[in-house]
Amino acid sequence: MTFPFLDLNRMHEQLQPQLDEAYLRVMKNGWFILGDEVNAFEKEFSDYCNADHCVAVGNGLDALALTLRAMDIGPGDEVLLPAHTFIATALAVSMSGATPVLIDVSADSPLIDPRQLENAISSVTKAIIAVHLYGEPADMDPIMAVAEKHGLKVIEDAAQAHGARYKNRRTGSIGHAACFSFYPGKNLGALGDGGAVTTNDPQLAERLRMLRNYGSRTKYLHEAQGVNSRLDELQAAFLRVKLQHLDEWNERRNIIAEKLSSSLRDLPGLQLPRIAEDSSAVWHLYVVRHPARDALVESLSDRGIQCQIHYPQCVPDTPAYADGIEGADRAIFSRRWAADCFSLPIDPYLTDQEVEEVIVAVRDVVRAHADNTCS
Ligand SMILES: *Cc1c(COP(=O)(O)O)cnc(C)c1O
Repeated sequence: MTFPFLDLNRMHEQLQPQLDEAYLRVMKNGWFILGDEVNAFEKEFSDYCNADHCVAVGNGLDALALTLRAMDIGPGDEVLLPAHTFIATALAVSMSGATPVLIDVSADSPLIDPRQLENAISSVTKAIIAVHLYGEPADMDPIMAVAEKHGLKVIEDAAQAHGARYKNRRTGSIGHAACFSFYPGKNLGALGDGGAVTTNDPQLAERLRMLRNYGSRTKYLHEAQGVNSRLDELQAAFLRVKLQHLDEWNERRNIIAEKLSSSLRDLPGLQLPRIAEDSSAVWHLYVVRHPARDALVESLSDRGIQCQIHYPQCVPDTPAYADGIEGADRAIFSRRWAADCFSLPIDPYLTDQEVEEVIVAVRDVVRAHADNTCS
């Protein structure tokens, strides 16, 4: 029996009547860019996040880059971000013209280490991007405290964390702004690209609306050199259908994560995810660590269990930043994560029996590896 890491067909088969209805509504309405569906989705998603405003854009990368621009962050400014993240976090800073400055994650946590922020702050530091990686909220209280002390903005990269909670607050409502991606494989995914920014700052929201649409608030009046980065009506209509199921999917991910954790805890050398007690993660990914990562991933693949690696290189080790990036020498634990982490399947549409198969396979493969290295 083989099943893929993530199979969206199961979700889309279940939702097909509602998705068909959404498509027909948009087509018959005959309005495709910035209309009722986007307005309604922005309202529904800001309510979901407990934020005052939501501005929908073309994708998660643009959400981050436009937020920096809307905050007047650009050339000559520095932005702090974790070295262990999806490359988009760093690329957004580079796109804005500002200088990315890397902060390490912790030995036991894939999240930015707040204790290392203060050392990296300079006279031109303007913002911190806190990434809720794998669906687990970054430790926001100390991050907000450092930011406040130094007059910095905090942007949540919530592209993997729709619905997660930090001390009972939804991600998307904690920093000065939060950026989401609706790439199809995210916890809330469109049938194409999409993204959004949530914020409680009405002026920031207003600037983002202007920047995403050619720098224009009134048709053919261009007050800034904006871009074209808009969520389209069709994707907004699909996302409205899916948003109604997000909590139920996140709950299913949580049940699978608990099952994996309770069934794999005794395996030699396998380190399981550890979520901070006052957080609730939404398990975009279930990431484990093992010194023989590559061999285990291969053995699991032979048994039909597809794993992935998020991410095999930390930001400073990617060819994209081969010319150098500030803070590269600090990325000690980030490099260890890149070397030994791998992600087990945690698709909410996995059946209990499939989860059981994953568990049996992981147990066999890790045990076999331990037996081989002992004898
Ligand atoms: C997916 C992702 C992004 C980028 O989103 P896109 O919609 O693919 O541009 C940014 N940051 C993180 C952490 C992500 O996982």
